Formats: sequence, C-alpha cells, structure tokens
Amino acid sequence: MFKIVLATTNPHKVEEMNNVSIPLGVEFVLPDKNFNPIEDGTTFEENSYAKALAAAQCEKSGRKYFMADDSGLCVDFLNGAPGLKSARYAPSAQERIQKLLSALKNANENERNAKFVCSLVLIDQTGSILNKTIGVCKGKIAHNEHGHGGFGYDPVFIVKDKNKTMAELSQEEKGKISHRGRALMDMLMWIKCADLK
Ligand code: IMP
Repeated sequence: MFKIVLATTNPHKVEEMNNVSIPLGVEFVLPDKNFNPIEDGTTFEENSYAKALAAAQCEKSGRKYFMADDSGLCVDFLNGAPGLKSARYAPSAQERIQKLLSALKNANENERNAKFVCSLVLIDQTGSILNKTIGVCKGKIAHNEHGHGGFGYDPVFIVKDKNKTMAELSQEEKGKISHRGRALMDMLMWIKCADLK
C-alpha cells in the first residue's frame, strides 16, 4: 500500500478519502501530532499548500509524501463568499446556514447559484509540488434545509441536475459528484500513473 500523509487533524476526512483510495492501493494517514498549520492564504490552493508544507515540516517518521485539501462554498449573489472563510462564516454549523439563508433573502433564483470548490496539493518532503487538482460541484442554495446526511452547508446546497440537496445523497453518491470526490479521483489517477517510490 502506497502511504501519503493527509495534512488534517480530522480522522473522518482520512477515513472518507481512504474509502475511495485503498481499493486503488493508496492509504492516507494522519500527520505527526505537532501538525499545526496557519491558513492565511488568499486562495484555496495557497491554503492547501500551506497545510501540506506544515505536515512535511513536522514529519518525524521519514514519510515522503504529503497531501492537503482546502475547500469552501462560493455563492454568486455574495460575490464568492463565504469562500475561503466558509468554516469561519459564523460560530456553529447551524448559525452558518442561517446566516447564509438570511444573506440571500433578497436574491432571485439565478442569483442563488453556488459552487463547492476543493483544492488538493501533493508535495514531497522538500516542499516541491508534485501535483495539484481542483474539484468543483455546481448547484444552488435552497430556501430551507433538506436532508440529514453530510456536514456543513450540505442541507442547503441543491446539487445541479439532481433535485436533491447534498445532505439527501448517500455517502457513496456524494463521493462521486462532490468537489472533494472529483479532486481526489483526479489526484489518485495521477498518483497511479506517476510511479512514485
Ligand atoms: P476545510 O477545507 O476542511 O477547511 O472546509 C472548509 C469549510 O467549507 C467546511 O468547514 C464547510 O463549512 C465547508 N465545506 C467544505 N466542503 C463541504 C462539503 O462537502 N459540504 C458542506 N460544507 C463543506
């Protein structure tokens, strides 16, 4: 199994990615416990690189490859907000959803268009970028919450071409069409072709 350190403190993220990657021979593992990235970039990619680099710099076991993801929700009516600040838009998940719905009170249907974006960056132990991928999932913001699956903004994100919110999809369905799922599949295909040692 080819191992890659996933620059996150969230074991659920590792598990979610491993569900897809292990059948393809790639296993993601948590970074050293001193991992403490500063996310002050101006793009998803800059933040993703900062996280991957922080994991590489605190590595103590000689592992050679480090990948990070950074993601968020960009809404047309809000000129791309909450974007990079998606996780910090309001204190709790429920408050973030309520703040988003209030901010869109005067938006017409077209202006509710939105997209989830995910940037993945893979580096080696020197910080050199080996590959980066971007995944996008388009949709629109609902007027109310629907569904109980997923996390974050999923209950108010209606997936384009499906008459359902992200929170109404099964984990498997979400994995196939989500921004993170798409970016991950592209990255895994690259890793399989790259023959890394
Ligand atoms: P991070 O990339 O883990 O820092 O996530 C950034 C934030 O974007 C999360 O805290 C969520 O608020 C939001 N977000 C990212 N991906 C998703 C998703 O798949 N569903 C719902 N919200 C998401």
